[in-house]
Amino acid sequence: MVENTAVAPAIASSSAGHASPIRVGVLGFGGLGQAASRVLALKQEMRWVAAADQKGFVYNPAGLNPQDCITAYHAQGSLGYLEATGTLSSDSIQDLMTKASQVDGYFLALPNLPNTFMASVAKQFIQAGWRGVLVDAIKRTSAVEQLLELSDELRSAGITYMTGCGATPGLLTAAAALAAQSYSEIHQVKITFGVGIANWEAYRATIREDIAHLPGYSVEQARAMTDAEVEALLDRTNGILTLESMEHADDVMLELAGICDRDRVSVGGVVDTRNPKKPLSTNVQITGRTFEGKISTHTFTLGDETSMAANVCGPAFGYLKAGVELHRRGIYGIFTSAEVMPKFVR
Ligand code: NAD
Repeated sequence: MVENTAVAPAIASSSAGHASPIRVGVLGFGGLGQAASRVLALKQEMRWVAAADQKGFVYNPAGLNPQDCITAYHAQGSLGYLEATGTLSSDSIQDLMTKASQVDGYFLALPNLPNTFMASVAKQFIQAGWRGVLVDAIKRTSAVEQLLELSDELRSAGITYMTGCGATPGLLTAAAALAAQSYSEIHQVKITFGVGIANWEAYRATIREDIAHLPGYSVEQARAMTDAEVEALLDRTNGILTLESMEHADDVMLELAGICDRDRVSVGGVVDTRNPKKPLSTNVQITGRTFEGKISTHTFTLGDETSMAANVCGPAFGYLKAGVELHRRGIYGIFTSAEVMPKFVR
């Protein structure tokens, strides 16, 4: 999957902390995109320089201010209205890509609606001849499979694409890959997530995509639902979505990493759309047999105080940093969060 043209100095210089900051763009400025801008504000090794929403984009190589951008987005509905740095556009990703000459990597905090959208964005980057690092927090198995098919094209284009790098898939998949090392055979990987958000409108795409996993719903049906229809559904469930046996890419990613067959991986969870407190503690349990023949289970549980946004954006930028180090060494193509360690971003 990789094209290796060697050399280690890129790692040495960036981990010494003397390299200039990685210039980061964020595509999608909803719940996760806004949280991403706040996460980046605390980082010395990364500088947030670009963002796009559905109606416009903003670019400033000197750096952007999260609060100004979040205020403008809420007040006027698009970053494009931002004075001096904003541009309104009906083709914002393409236009930003053309204008922003100094971006090392993008976090794709975009809805994957329809289920082919993220792959179409990746193709846009390939066709534009853009070179750099792309990171997504995509969730569905079939969506990751579409991206995996672009592996050769991404490699020839000089793009290092990190897929499934949020919380699940992402942090929890990587934890499963690490925990698997104690065993000689993996029997089961069980991911159970608890998400609490104060109101669903802060994360419309996340909630629509979760609804698409409910029995009787498809991605297309969830996409077509009006806000009023989503609210009516949530009224019927008291704001709670209970999800079981989800089509989640943790399965294909762990299979591809050679850890276990995909049918041994299961993902489910509970989302409370009316309360920021988690309804249950997010965890991954990895069961296997050791070389001595003992069956055991490792459990990795996230702290209840950590939000979905913290557990998605943190890993996404950790994988972006890892991707930049690969890119600087001439290693292009597609990687999942189960096969590369994220790097901590200072
Ligand atoms: P959201 O609905 O809050 O925001 C989406 C943003 O994308 C908006 O700013 C919108 O204007 C923008 N957008 C939509 N279409 C666009 C286009 N064509 N061009 C440019 N911008 C466009 O979304 P969210 O709730 O933050 O979720 C984003 C994604 O993150 C979803 O796909 C969700 O499934 C995923 N997610 C992953 C995990 C994980 O653990 N892997 C967890 C939560 C969410």
